[in-house]
Amino acid sequence: MGKLDGRVVVVTGAARGQGEQEARLFRAEGAEVLVADVLDEQGEALAREIGARYVHLDVGEETDWRAAARTAKETYGRVDGLVNNAGILRFNSLVDTPLEEFMQVVRVNQVGCFLGIKTMAPVMEDGGTIVNTASYTAVTGMAAVGTYAATKHAILGLTRVAALELADRRIRVNAMCPGAIDTAMSNPAQLDPEADAEETSRALDELYRKLVPLGRIGRPDEVARLALFLTSDDSSYITGQPFVIDGGWLAGVSII
Ligand code: NAD
Repeated sequence: MGKLDGRVVVVTGAARGQGEQEARLFRAEGAEVLVADVLDEQGEALAREIGARYVHLDVGEETDWRAAARTAKETYGRVDGLVNNAGILRFNSLVDTPLEEFMQVVRVNQVGCFLGIKTMAPVMEDGGTIVNTASYTAVTGMAAVGTYAATKHAILGLTRVAALELADRRIRVNAMCPGAIDTAMSNPAQLDPEADAEETSRALDELYRKLVPLGRIGRPDEVARLALFLTSDDSSYITGQPFVIDGGWLAGVSII
């Protein structure tokens, strides 16, 4: 028995990173999965490998969302879950951030999450689940990622309001707040064939050994297990909550 037997789940930004691990784990737990991304080649290859369906979905485009909802219904007959995972990160101080860059991040992270709730909740079965991927920076500040942090704070607002508005249909809405996770977002060397990704990972581990109480960067499969918990009946009485998964980073600092 899988934890998601008989359920149909849409995962955005699922071609790589945390979304990929979520798609893999959800399939292994018995769900039908709609792998959604803008990276068509990678997304299609993953979907083929795990026996899922790929759909091109730019989360900032409402027409793409409507098409994805139709595809899910036509392919699997129902939708039970959504993981709003797609996201982008830009580094800049607030005073140096061009408006265009601010709006680009808002469009993907915040508008994408809003459109996901708006489009999928109405077609979702009663008792469904929505998991929004926020961030450690949704619950604390971090210099140089102000635009990103603002959108991730906004995702918590969307999560709480959606939980209230959808509770009468027993649709539960929660958010994940990952700290540093070893993906292309935190380690762009993974995308650069010229770079030594292992060496960069080692350097990141060294950094997070000092910053994070558990002494290392997190793995995408660890976040996927939290997404599974929030998508399965194991979390049946939980809604409207942020879940920090950060190796203890937010707990505070050590002075010894
Ligand atoms: P990643 O860059 O590997 O994955 C992001 C995915 O989103 C990619 O597959 C990308 O193609 C997709 N994407 C980007 N723009 C899109 C769009 N407009 N429409 C659809 N898909 C789009 O990074 P990741 O770490 O796997 O990121 C997953 C989520 O986790 C993001 O929301 C990110 O903000 C969040 N997060 C990451 C970290 C971290 O340290 N890696 C920490 C906290 C939160």
